[in-house]
Amino acid sequence: MEPRKVPSVLPASVRIREVGPRDGLQNEPETLPTPAKVAMIEGLAAAGLTRIELTSFVRPDVIPQLADAAEVLAAVRLPAGVTASVLIPNERGLDRALAQREMFSEINGFLSASETHNAKNVGCSVADSLAGLKRVFARATVEGLAIEAVISTSFGCPYEGPVPVPRVLDLAEALAEAGAGEVGFGDTTGMANPVAVEAFFTAARERLGHVELTAHFHNTRGQGLANVLAALRAGVESFESSVGELGGCPVPAGATGNIATEDLVSMLEEMGIATGVELDKLLGVARRLQETLGRRLGSHVLSAGPIRWDAPDRLSLS
Ligand code: ZN
Repeated sequence: MEPRKVPSVLPASVRIREVGPRDGLQNEPETLPTPAKVAMIEGLAAAGLTRIELTSFVRPDVIPQLADAAEVLAAVRLPAGVTASVLIPNERGLDRALAQREMFSEINGFLSASETHNAKNVGCSVADSLAGLKRVFARATVEGLAIEAVISTSFGCPYEGPVPVPRVLDLAEALAEAGAGEVGFGDTTGMANPVAVEAFFTAARERLGHVELTAHFHNTRGQGLANVLAALRAGVESFESSVGELGGCPVPAGATGNIATEDLVSMLEEMGIATGVELDKLLGVARRLQETLGRRLGSHVLSAGPIRWDAPDRLSLS
């Protein structure tokens, strides 16, 4: 019998990249004022998050929520040990970002695994996106920047249905060859399930053992944290999430987006897996965001509060 490829124990610790300031805010209807974004980012760092996606150098007229990318980078003050990343959509975006080269140390670039999603998202074929990323990554490598490549619709496409695993892994391999030391696999519209996730990352580790593999789950259908556990079982130690569950897609109404960082941290810490994040401080950031936005955010721990084993809350069960 073949030995099982799944590790018998879960990792002692994981890395979390907070994507709320970019992935989250980009997909919310409001545009947060720059000082509120800066306070949010600095609060996230103070809560112990050591990887933060700060903003994106997309065209301001396309994504007005992130039109102040340069202002955010100029204003934010991060403690040593925090890795700041920015999303770079193309070479023009890289040119703009490099004007503030000293303010970040990591970039991410993305494409979709499925043609229709890529065409609707960025208006070109997957091959053209890959060619563009190769140019961006080559220049970023010269600049000494760390590179994460993100593959959207890795676990299924809302237009095309299933996406073959070998196709996703071929893309991941090409992106790694182009200079990405990390590949993030996005469940962009919440189509993954735990069985598929465990099989996917087991196969990914076999082919891409030299690359950091990052899981980026959305909670669109409530399966985000179940998928995290499945990824852990397949040896994944790197995750992305969004404070407050920011990043809800407005269509269909009420659909949720990224898994919430506070829900992820709560679950992992309860399982004995260290995250380095102080949950109470993180919840403070989420609460201040709720006040600024003037509405409730979606995360569960934000509503229920953290687990207090020493002084359990008396919940009304009526
Ligand atoms: Zn996302």
